[in-house]
Order: sequence, then C-alpha cells, then structure tokens
Amino acid sequence: MSNKLSQTVLKVAVNVPLSRQFDYLPGRDGELPAAGCRVRVPFGRRHEIGLVLGHASESSLPATKIRRVNEVIDTEPVIGAAELRLIRFTSDYYHHPIGEVVAAALPALLRQGKALHPSIEMLAITDLGEDADIESLARRAPRQAELLGHLLDAGGNGIEAERLGEEIPGWRRAVRPLIEKGFVARFESRAGDFDESLGGAAQEGPSLNEDQAAALATLRSGDTFGAYLVDGVTGSGKTELYLSRMQDVIDRGQQVLVLAPEIGLTPQLVSRLQQRLGIQPALLHSGRTDVERLAAWRAARSGAARLVVGTRSAIFTPLKNPGLIIVDEEHDHSFKQQEGLRYSARDLAIVRAKHLDIPVILGSATPTLEMLQHCRGGNYQHIRLPVRAGGARPPSVRLVDTMRSPATDGISEALAAAIASHLDADGQVLIFLNRRGFAPTLICAACGHIAECSRCDSRLTVHARSRELRCHHCGAVRPLETCCGECGEAVKPLGEGTERLEDALRTRFPDKTVTRIDSDSMAHKGAMNEALDKATQGHADILVGTQMLSKGHHFPKLTLVGIVNADQGLFGTDFRSAERMAQSIVQVAGRAGRESRAGEVLIQTAFPEHPFWSTLIDGGYEKVSEEALAERELTRWPPFTRLALIRAAAHRHDDAFGFLEMARNRATGSAGDRLRILGPVDAPMARKAGRYRTQLLLQSSDRQTLHKLLSELRPALEEEPLARKVRWSIDVDPIELF
Ligand code: ADP
Ligand code: ZN
Repeated sequence: MSNKLSQTVLKVAVNVPLSRQFDYLPGRDGELPAAGCRVRVPFGRRHEIGLVLGHASESSLPATKIRRVNEVIDTEPVIGAAELRLIRFTSDYYHHPIGEVVAAALPALLRQGKALHPSIEMLAITDLGEDADIESLARRAPRQAELLGHLLDAGGNGIEAERLGEEIPGWRRAVRPLIEKGFVARFESRAGDFDESLGGAAQEGPSLNEDQAAALATLRSGDTFGAYLVDGVTGSGKTELYLSRMQDVIDRGQQVLVLAPEIGLTPQLVSRLQQRLGIQPALLHSGRTDVERLAAWRAARSGAARLVVGTRSAIFTPLKNPGLIIVDEEHDHSFKQQEGLRYSARDLAIVRAKHLDIPVILGSATPTLEMLQHCRGGNYQHIRLPVRAGGARPPSVRLVDTMRSPATDGISEALAAAIASHLDADGQVLIFLNRRGFAPTLICAACGHIAECSRCDSRLTVHARSRELRCHHCGAVRPLETCCGECGEAVKPLGEGTERLEDALRTRFPDKTVTRIDSDSMAHKGAMNEALDKATQGHADILVGTQMLSKGHHFPKLTLVGIVNADQGLFGTDFRSAERMAQSIVQVAGRAGRESRAGEVLIQTAFPEHPFWSTLIDGGYEKVSEEALAERELTRWPPFTRLALIRAAAHRHDDAFGFLEMARNRATGSAGDRLRILGPVDAPMARKAGRYRTQLLLQSSDRQTLHKLLSELRPALEEEPLARKVRWSIDVDPIELF
C-alpha cells in the first residue's frame, strides 16, 4: 500500500539486517539532504547513522507515522551517484540489506558519524618535555618514560593519539601526569590532507620484452569498458605490464584503483609502485589507522590521489576521475568476504568498470576457471605471458614418494638431501606446509583417544610453543595435557604442523637460520614485514611457513621450494579441490629461482601415481585448468551453473534444519524445473562453536532464475519466526561450499 504525501520523504539506508529502506521526513528546519549525505535518525529507541538514498513523495506509511531526521551530518554527499549505483547493485546481487552494504562501503569514522574532515586528537612533546630526564623517569614510571620517549621520536608536530593505542598499551593513564608536568601537550588538529607528490621522482623500469609489449598493445586497444585477463606465469612481468598501463592513465590525469590480496599488499609492492610512478599511493588496508584510511579515502574521492591501492573493501572507494581498475592475484580467496555481506571484490571490480565504462585488468599466474571461461566465451580478452621475464628459467618440479622415502617429522631423506645441497650452493630454501601449530592431532598411545574440541566437531591442534591445545575453528584454548583424559596414559602429537617442521629443520641444520612465517609467529604487528625484509635480503637460510609465504613475494636468493604434505587436496570433496590445489602449488613453486639461479621444487606425496600430478607436472596449471573446466561442464558445476548457498546455524539442530526446510519448501513452490535444490543437509563440520550448522544449496543454469527466487525468499526468511533462533545467511556465488 502506498500513501501519496504532501511532503518529500527521504529514503534512508540504515545499518540493520533488514532488506528495506526506511522513510524519514526532513528535520524541523526543512533542510533536504541530497542522496549520498549521511543523517542521524531515530530508529526504535536508538539513534542510527543512515545514508540518504533518494527522495520520494510516497510512502507505505501514512505521514503521521513517519519520523523526522534528527540531524543532517553532511552538507555535500560523501558518496556520489556512481558509488551509490555500485552499492545498490551489490545489495541486489548479493541479496543483502542495503544499510549493511553502505556500512561496508564507508570508512569506519564516517560509519560512526564523524565529519568528513574530523578533528583528530594529537599529542606532542613540549620544550619542557624535551629537556626532561627520561632515565630517572624510567625508574619511577616506566610507562610514562616510554610514552615520552615515543613522543620525543615523533618530534614537535606530534602524533595521532589513535596510533599510540597500538604501540603503548595503557598510554591514556600514563599521559595524564605528563600533561600535568607540562611535558606533553594535547591538541586537536584537522586531519592532514594527503599529498601524492611526496612520492619522490619516478624511476625508469626495464624495457618490456616482446610478450609484454604485445600485451601492452592489447591493453591499450581501448579506453572504454573491457575486461583483460593477464594470465602470466610467476615472474613473467605482469607487474611491469600493469605499471606501463597505469602510467598512461595517470599521465592523462585519471585515477587507477588497484586491488590486492591482504597478504599480497606488502610494503615491497607499495614501494615498487611508488618508485616507478613517482607518486604516493593512497592506501586502504587493515594495517592503517582509521584516520589514515579516511584521509586516503578522501584523497581518492577528491581526486588528489591518482593511485589508490587497497584490499577487498577498497572496491567501494569513491573516485573522482576513474580511468582503470586492476585486480592483482585475481584468484585469491581474500577477495571474497566470507561473513556478513559475502561479496566478491573481484566480481564487483568488473561490474564497477562496466558502470564507469573503463577497462579492468585481472592478473594471475593461476586464473580461476570462472575467468578462463569468460575468455573462452569471448567476453574477456585473454592475454598470456608464458615465460619468465629477465631470462629466469622455470623451476624443475620433482615428486618425492613418501612411501619409499619415509619422512621423519615431515621431512623425507630426499628433501633433506636437496635442502643440504641448495644451502651448500648458497641458495635459500622455502618449506611449505599449510598447517600451523606443532601437530594437528593429540592421540593417546594406549587407548587411541583423540583430543577434540568440546564445541566443534573437530580435533584440537597441538601448539608446542605456547603449550596449548587450540581449536582452529572456534578459537577455544586449553593447556596442553601430557596424559590421556580417558585412561591416564601418555599422549603424543601425531602428524606435523609448521612448528614441528621448524624444530626438525633446526635439529638437522643446526648452523643455519630457520625462520617460521605463519599467523602465529607473525601475530605481532610489523613482524611480517620484518621477516620478509630479512628473507628478501637473504638473511634467512630456511623459511618455513603456510600460504602466508606463497603470495607475490620475491626472494632473490631462493632456489628450492619443498612442499611437505601436498595430499590434502587430492581427494577433496569440493568440486574446486583440483583447481585450488594446483593454484596453491603453482604459487608457492613460483617463489623458486626467480633470478639467475635455476629453481627446484620438491613435492612430497604418498600418491605419486595420482593422475593429478602428471597433469600438473607435464602440462602445468594450464592443463589442470583445461581438464577441470571440461569436468565442470560435464558435471554442471560453476562456471557452467550458478550457485547460492543458504546457511543456518542454531543451538538446537532442529531449529537450523527446520529453518532451511521451510526455505526449501518455499523455493520448491516457486522454482520450476530450471532450479535444482540440494538439501538441507548438515554442514561437513556439523557443529562449530556450539552451534549446529546446516545448509541448502540452490543451483541453476541461469542467473535470472536464481535471483528471482532469492529476491522472493529473502524477505520471507526475514519474517520467519524461526529466524530469531537461527543465524542464517545467503551466499551468492559461494567459494566455500562446506
Ligand atoms: P610478476 O608480476 O608476473 O610476478 P614482475 O613484474 O614482478 O612479474 O617481474 C618479475 C621480475 O622480472 C622482476 O624482478 C622484474 O623487475 C623483472 N622484469 C619484468 N619485466 C622485465 C623485462 N622486460 N626485462 C627485464 N626484467 C624484467
Ligand atoms: Zn572448536
């Protein structure tokens, strides 16, 4: 029902999990904020920050029921029409409440209602403070001394208070006496504006080789929308190619948006872009403070930054004058958000480029089957860089049969011998195992009892450094036990994780440095960059790590890569197993022999006869992806069909299951024969963090059928009484089915 009103109503997106817009009347002063402005609105008994999406003269409510806006926060739109279009698209395509999409698109400070140019709390050392006796202060009040020393290093301009929180815990208590003594001044400052000219002079790069030059010509063939897949082996000079194309766009005064995976966005990459282009990039990633992120966002919005570099959520950054979008390492899973708004930044990059009518470049050494299929269909241009640039040869790959050459603590004799010979030749070694901790299982030698998580259907991982048992699914932690909880006999860790490999390598090579890189050893901020710098300079003989080590890094001295347990994906149940496994192996193998010395890759497997290996070793990723595509076409999996996964979790199994049964019944009623409904079934890990998890898979050969169904289903699910007892979500184009 809709009521014609004599007054304009505002259509407002509010950050709540309901897929509708909310109507408000302008405030008493009658000020009518434009679309893209933020407003403070009453919502139930609270107040919320909302974003004006548009104006209307009708409402489903009578005028007397519509509440007024409390305050208009922005005098000009913070989000422009083009970004609003992307936000609307995202909400429609992922069937996700628009208020939550807006929240994802805004920097944290704007989401909280702060001004576009907020004033920032600053602290600076005073002249008196500079003369203070820090050493004697350190004896009486170490925290104060630490803080004062920090501010002394920061200099007279001071430092944002927000930054101190990360470096000096409890600084607020320490700063009070320092201010009272007159050693430190506190003041408010308008956030400093970004200046791209601080980037330094541009440096010349290598001249492009033939393949790169041909690829560049293709990239230059159009300035309107076009998607280009740069499919180039690791070290083939993809980044050099991007740089040339970026230069064109920047020279014209247009902006380039670069999206990179979280762990691929290293200081090495940023400084390379900066040095070569001679401008400072505006950076948007989790390593920056909220104030820095807002400054970068503003610079992108105003056009002051021509180069904008960020991780997933940077896809929503407003751009004044966009000319090009680049998605580096297109295959990387971090582009897909796995909770809340489950969007793919890679896919949205393509949509946004189409909206803006500009080119988008997607690069990878291991492109996803989705992108390859688009190229086959002629929608995207396929650009190949088949050989390494600068003359480096591809690494040789060899399998080690762990049945014949048994492994102790994960390292076979054959691998140990290869490590020794590469180290002797002054090479660097990388040992890859995608499993952190000491061992994945703790078992009782007497009764066979296995330590399990009490809240999940999973085993606890042994962490030897912290002497703990941890659940990698819910985060539960308990002390490492030495006796079996069932029979009291001794327990032992079974299998290996990166900690165990680190110990084993230290024992075998006592005079070499062994550096472990995984999310446990790198938890401390800055630790990763420190370790990577050392590794790049060749100061770590042996690197041991998880996939954190496999992406994008360039270690000049690295000549051997050992893949310890490659079998995890061979018999995977997910239809993406082979694709994933090939991607992860090819990416980590690509770290070997990137400069003059040839690289070698050893893969330990208990199943050397498995056909996957001959396909990968003889035909490379290209062959694996070709076969996988053929299989997907036959079995009707994506990219040949479309999927949506509805997940539900609850403390009672019946609630979760019943919720999805209701969803299935509704879907069956309206679907017809173009839709396949699988489930509901229990998720493979049926219980996690105390909740039972179930799922319903919807599959269709055409997108329209699926989307029509979801747009009817979503509001119905929101209304369903059971929904209050269930945590549920819709995942369009899921990449994890289980
Ligand atoms: P990718 O991004 O494909 O991994 P990069 O662009 O990082 O490749 O290039 C790999 C290495 O080869 C880098 O050290 C780069 O400087 C070098 N390189 C790239 N293109 C050329 C070229 N045309 N001539 C010489 N060296 C090159
Ligand atoms: Zn658990």
